[in-house]
Amino acid sequence: MSKLVVMKFGGTSVEDAVAINRTAQIVRGRLAKRVTPIVVVSAMAKVTDQLLAAANAAGRGDRAGALAISARLRNRHLETASALVSGDCKVGVCKWIDAEFDSLDEVLRGLSAIGELTPRISDMVVSIGERLSSRIISEGFRQRDLDAVYVDARQCIVTDNQHGKAIPQDALIEQRLRHHVLPQAEAGRVCVMGGFIGATEKGVTTTLGRGGSDFTAALVGGGLDAGSIEIWTDVNGIMTTDPRICPNALRVKTISFEEAAELAYFGAKVLHPATILPAVRKNIPVLVLNSKNPTNEGTRIISLPPHCRSPFKSIAVKRRLTIIDVVASRMLMSYGYMKSIFDVFDKHKCPVDMVSTSEVSVSLTVDSNDKLPDIAADLSQLADVKYEGRKALICMVGEDIRGQNGIAARVFQSIRHVNVRMISQGASEINMSFMIEEDDAEEAIRSLHDEFFADPDPEIFDVEALKEVVG
Ligand code: ADP
Ligand code: ASP
Ligand code: MG
Repeated sequence: MSKLVVMKFGGTSVEDAVAINRTAQIVRGRLAKRVTPIVVVSAMAKVTDQLLAAANAAGRGDRAGALAISARLRNRHLETASALVSGDCKVGVCKWIDAEFDSLDEVLRGLSAIGELTPRISDMVVSIGERLSSRIISEGFRQRDLDAVYVDARQCIVTDNQHGKAIPQDALIEQRLRHHVLPQAEAGRVCVMGGFIGATEKGVTTTLGRGGSDFTAALVGGGLDAGSIEIWTDVNGIMTTDPRICPNALRVKTISFEEAAELAYFGAKVLHPATILPAVRKNIPVLVLNSKNPTNEGTRIISLPPHCRSPFKSIAVKRRLTIIDVVASRMLMSYGYMKSIFDVFDKHKCPVDMVSTSEVSVSLTVDSNDKLPDIAADLSQLADVKYEGRKALICMVGEDIRGQNGIAARVFQSIRHVNVRMISQGASEINMSFMIEEDDAEEAIRSLHDEFFADPDPEIFDVEALKEVVG
């Protein structure tokens, strides 16, 4: 059999019929190179947000608001399907879309009558986005002479029952993929499945967390030992920072698994943080590519990229964080004290991003969330507690920062006008991060970008694009 390639297309890459047409061309291009693509698709752009808004509206009892959102989504999917598919097939797909929205409306009516939204029902509602896009796209592909088959991702991506952020069960997923996907791929067919969604062993629909289609692609790639995993999105690859913040951000040509994982974890939305692990386990290269500019080389994430003379490869930002200060008046840093603090976070299943300690106090940062008052109440049994939201974590990533003198001085000199609340370096050799006010984040990133990417290493960064911009 020819080599398997997992191709994941994000929301903007399948946002309408024109974009789906482009996607079909890209898949055709891969087939011409004698590789067999397995296609993983997100919901059409913004659909997941809108489905969540509908579910939340219904949960608040706003029946009319929820049904209005659903009606708009129904029209958008019917329009896209009608533009992509013709003849009997069109009638069939549109009928199926109508039936899906009829049952969604029934759920929304029920929800607004009860006035309560559970995570399980929320997953059921949002999963419709990927179920619809994958069905419509597989039909669209078939009409473009691609031998495509629709695979219900919920048959393959087996998870636990933590709705909203379910944990995949690797061994079962591999078994299911080998049963439902591999024989089709071996026969040369292009399987099309939705990302982001899964199901428990009992068949209850779950989701992998926002942005989780990247994760699905990695699970499929890892489970089937694919030759590569391609993440097709709306930018040329992993850039030196979010191009929405810094329009002169440069494409990073190659980056290590470790660097990409740090970036993703600390906020670079271009890749879901869990994408890297399945790829690392089997040493499968991950490529980040632009579906609107498919001839661009994108970014290659590999285990051993060439050495880079610039200290950093990229700057990420994670917003909506809260700093919690725990000040022990009596206990000081006695044995077991840290454990008792972390036990509280464990109890509330709340991950901690950064920690810094002094003799009498510990500062921790967490995602702002509605459990904070409960966490603070539990911590106040141990010590005095204060917490403050609207913080942002800036994370600068590059290999071997430790080996270079004077880097921290350059970082903090270039943001000297900004109030830095916490600093961390050394936990990994490739990450230097600090916490500032959310309102200062964009300006700080632009200053840091000017400082560290003014003279980019052409081995690692796409300097040709820079020349084009500068003229
Ligand atoms: P998709 O829908 O394809 O999954 P996302 O919106 O999740 O796409 O991710 C792509 C977006 O990530 C880009 O449009 C960009 O604004 C943002 N982004 C943040 N950090 C980076 C970065 N370092 N490099 C590239 N894109 C980034
Ligand atoms: N559609 C989901 C989301 O918007 C998953 C994804 O796009 O990766 O979060
Ligand atoms: Mg994404």
